[in-house]
Amino acid sequence: MSGRLRVLPATQSHEKHDHVDLVFRNGKTLRYHDPRRFGSMHWQPENTVHWTLQNLGLEPLIDEFDGDYLFKQTRKRTARVKSLIMNSQIVVGIGNIYANEALFLAGVRPQRKCANLTRAESIRLVTAIKNVLEEAIKAGGTTLRDYFGVDGETGYFKMALHVYGRGGEPCLRCTTPLKTVKNSQRQSVYCPMCQH
Ligand SMILES: [Zn+2]
Repeated sequence: MSGRLRVLPATQSHEKHDHVDLVFRNGKTLRYHDPRRFGSMHWQPENTVHWTLQNLGLEPLIDEFDGDYLFKQTRKRTARVKSLIMNSQIVVGIGNIYANEALFLAGVRPQRKCANLTRAESIRLVTAIKNVLEEAIKAGGTTLRDYFGVDGETGYFKMALHVYGRGGEPCLRCTTPLKTVKNSQRQSVYCPMCQH
């Protein structure tokens, strides 16, 4: 959430919200910039897991995160599908924007109950999540390479978004106006025709 790590000459003067410098022997520093103070740094002994990381679910881009895994997770729950894929005990790193986009690509409504999700839909959803994240990484990479500003915009502003932030506008696939619903304080945007 708007925090940044940058490699800079260690002599470069600090900006507001630069909180930590890890200085290397080659004269460079890894500088941690965090205006909103959501981040933290921890010094951890080798081969131990910090308590904040102990209960995390799978990384979304590894092979173990597949349709079977997601399908199994949906069987035990009464939650909505969108809450499930944003639950870091199931899978990490999927924020509201990515969840909205992945659900659109998979043709699944955000408010669907987990127990009603089919195996085929689970597989489609996992594929969509991986595609959205890979696209975001590519877009973020572009931003980082030509980053100069004090508060440069992060990658997802450069992504072509299908639904997020487009409530009431026509669906890019079928032109039906997109609907907005709110669940657990998060806005979800979906197409009533393309998503079931
Ligand atoms: Zn549509």
